[in-house]
Amino acid sequence: MEFQELQSILNNKPKVGIVTHKNPDGDAMGSSLGLAGILKKKGCEVAVIAPTDYPAFLNWIKGNEEVLVWGKNNKLIKNVVKEADVLFCLDFNALHRIDEVGELISKSDGKKVMIDHHQQPDDFVDYMISDTSASSTAEMVYEFITKLGDEGLIDSDIGEALYCGIMTDTGSFRFPSTTNKTHYIVGGIIEKGADHSMVHRRIYDSNTLRRLKLLGYCLMNMEVLDRYKVVIIKISKEDHKTYNIQKGDTEGIVNYGLSMPHIQCSVFFREDDDIVKISFRSKDDYNVNEFARKHFNGGGHINAAGGMSKDSLEVTIDKFKKIILSQK
Ligand code: 5GP
Ligand code: MN
Repeated sequence: MEFQELQSILNNKPKVGIVTHKNPDGDAMGSSLGLAGILKKKGCEVAVIAPTDYPAFLNWIKGNEEVLVWGKNNKLIKNVVKEADVLFCLDFNALHRIDEVGELISKSDGKKVMIDHHQQPDDFVDYMISDTSASSTAEMVYEFITKLGDEGLIDSDIGEALYCGIMTDTGSFRFPSTTNKTHYIVGGIIEKGADHSMVHRRIYDSNTLRRLKLLGYCLMNMEVLDRYKVVIIKISKEDHKTYNIQKGDTEGIVNYGLSMPHIQCSVFFREDDDIVKISFRSKDDYNVNEFARKHFNGGGHINAAGGMSKDSLEVTIDKFKKIILSQK
């Protein structure tokens, strides 16, 4: 499909489904709700679908109350996906990453559009916008809106949603993926009335005492493999009970490992009920996307990736250490 065809479909008030990845983060929800805001203003019938629930620190984004969550709104989601004229897939690039919702999408007759910045996209769409150098999907959505000629529809609410996506995925404008264009776009968003300071507070000043203590506990028990420039942070099943861990509580903890100048890679292992969820963060050309893909059934970006293991926490960490020790 050519861009002009997509543009003319979107100008004719279609039914639109916007789907993002599991465990949605600031970029997933910010880009989805930002795009939803624009398409609603254009007269489209829009539904935003999240394959799982997401942390409460994202609930302030305009349109949050209408988000359909798989597990809570399955019937509605099935209907939206079936009836949709256009299905946007935002901030992910492979249908298997979103389980049942992915199966529904693959069966839908709606035109599929991907806007994403992760490595190695699957080609399952009619129109693909994939840019692995982009800071965030929200930045790409801003450019998409501009290309549609609808930049004038961006208001403070839509701007704050997009700002949230760009801010969280750039580590508050510090990762190398942040460019002059990123700042230019953010400048445009602020010009349209977005309260950037409020977005920072809502996202980063959302700690509870319980979460801060969990962070303290994780840092106390952090393991540093100095020779290998690697940090290991972990949370066991028992810790979930002790600290009454809620969705979103562990977000961002992995980044603390990288705050030591000599560390190149920080890895966070979280033992859930049935799997160990792994988060990788790195600096420079230490490629955690390849590492996660090769060893832990995952992927993501060069400097931020995720993966999983079906082994116990101890076995998973042992396996990880063996790989690291065998590398150098
Ligand atoms: P996080 O560590 O925050 O869960 O994920 C870091 C980045 O890697 C995100 O961009 C996320 O979408 C991606 N990611 C996380 N888990 C996986 C996974 O299992 N497979 C793939 N392909 N990407 C993942
Ligand atoms: Mn993203």
